[in-house]
Amino acid sequence: VAMNYRGPFRVRADRNRPDPEILHPNDAIVRVTRSCICGSDLHLYHGLVPDTRVGMTFGHEFTGIVEEVGPGVKNLKPGDHVLVPFNIACGTCPFCRQELYGNCHESNAEATAVGGIFGYSHTAGGFDGGQAEYVRVPYADVGPTIIPPGMDLDDAVLLTDVVPTGYQAAEMAGIKTGDTVVVFGAGPIGIMAAKCAWLFGAGRVIIIDHIEYRLDFARTYAQCEAYNFKSLGDPVLFIKKTTDYFGADVCIDAVGCEAEGSTMQTITGRKLMLQSGAATALHWAINGVKKGGVVSIVGVYGPTGNLIPIGNVLNKGLTIRANQASVKRLLPRLIEHVQAGRLDPKGLITHRVPLEEVSDAYHIFSRKLDNCIKTILIPST
Ligand code: NAD
Ligand code: ZN
Ligand code: ZN
Repeated sequence: VAMNYRGPFRVRADRNRPDPEILHPNDAIVRVTRSCICGSDLHLYHGLVPDTRVGMTFGHEFTGIVEEVGPGVKNLKPGDHVLVPFNIACGTCPFCRQELYGNCHESNAEATAVGGIFGYSHTAGGFDGGQAEYVRVPYADVGPTIIPPGMDLDDAVLLTDVVPTGYQAAEMAGIKTGDTVVVFGAGPIGIMAAKCAWLFGAGRVIIIDHIEYRLDFARTYAQCEAYNFKSLGDPVLFIKKTTDYFGADVCIDAVGCEAEGSTMQTITGRKLMLQSGAATALHWAINGVKKGGVVSIVGVYGPTGNLIPIGNVLNKGLTIRANQASVKRLLPRLIEHVQAGRLDPKGLITHRVPLEEVSDAYHIFSRKLDNCIKTILIPST
C-alpha cells in the first residue's frame, strides 16, 4: 500500500503499487513504521507545486526498519530502526560539506534550487516518499540515523522535519536573551518554532494565526501568547503597540505560500511558480519587525517569485534568513533536547490514521478539521 497522488485535492491508497527496489549501490530499502503528513504536503495536495506528477507517493517524514541495503552501504544493516531526514543529501558535495544538507548539489539531478526531498515533486528530484509501506532511500549512509534506544517512535518521526525546522527557524532568527519573538503560523512548525525560541533565551514569544483551536494549543504547548489576526485588526499595528512602537526583535514566517488573506495570483509552470500580490504573513513579518531586526523564513514558497516590500527591508536594514532545515546537522543536539525533556515532539500528534485511510487524513489536515495539529500514518505491516 502506498499513498498515490491523483491530482489536486485527490489522493488515494494504492494497493497495487510495486514495492521499490535498490537502484543504486548506495540505496537502502526501508519498511516504514511511521510517516507524517506535513504542511508542505498540503502545497502539493493543493496543486501549488510545479511538476507534481500524478502517480507520485508523497511523504518526507518517516521512520522505518532497514529491509535491504545496496552493496555500497556501510553504516546500515537490515534490521536497523532509523529515522530518515526529509533532505536527500549526498554527503560529499561542497554544500553537504558545509552541512547545508538541504542544498545538496547532487541529489536533485534537475536541480533548480533545492536539493532532493522525499516525495516532493520533480522540482525536488522526483523521489517517491514514505507515506507507503516501503521506500527507497538514496545515499543511505548519509541521512538515515539509528533511533536512539528507548526513544519513542512518535518522537523519532518528528525529528525528521518538524523539530529541526522549528528549531532552525529560531536559530536563523539569531534570538538574543530577552528578545520579543513573533511567529506567524500556529501549525506544527510555528508551534515548534515558538517552543524552541525559549531555548534560545527569548523573553517574550507571540504566535499569530486565525484558527482558534491552534491558538489554544500553542498557548498550552509552547507557553506563548497567541492571537487571532482576524480579531487583531492590523497585526503590524498590534506588534508595534505591544513593543513600545519599536517592532518585534525577530519575526518568523512559518506559514508560506498559502497564507490566508493573501491577494496572490498563482501561475504554475512546469518548473516555476509565480505569485503576484502580497503574501500576508511575510509582509506582516517584514513590516512588524524592528529596524535592524531579523526575519526568519521557513514557510515554503515552492520555487516561486513573490512580491515582498523590499523597500522596507532596505530602509529598515533587515536581515532575512531562509532555508529548508538542515536536519542531519541539527539531529545530535535535538536528540539531546528530547532526551532531556526540553522538547516534547510527540505532544503535537493529534491523529493516528491507518495508511489505508490516507485520503481522509489529507482532507482533515487540509481543512483543519477535528482540532488536527499533526497526523501520523501507520502502515499495517
Ligand atoms: P500547517 O498548514 O499545519 O500550518 C500553517 C498555519 O498557518 C495554519 O495554522 C494556518 O491557519 C496559518 N496561517 C495561514 N495564513 C496565515 C497568516 N496570514 N498569518 C498567520 N498564520 C497563518 O503547516 P505546517 O506543517 O505547520 O508548516 C508550515 C509551513 O512550513 C508550510 O509552508 C510548510 O511547507 C513549511 N515547512 C518548511 C520546512 C523547511 O524545512 N523550511 C519544513 C517543514 C514545513
Ligand atoms: Zn515536513
Ligand atoms: Zn551533497
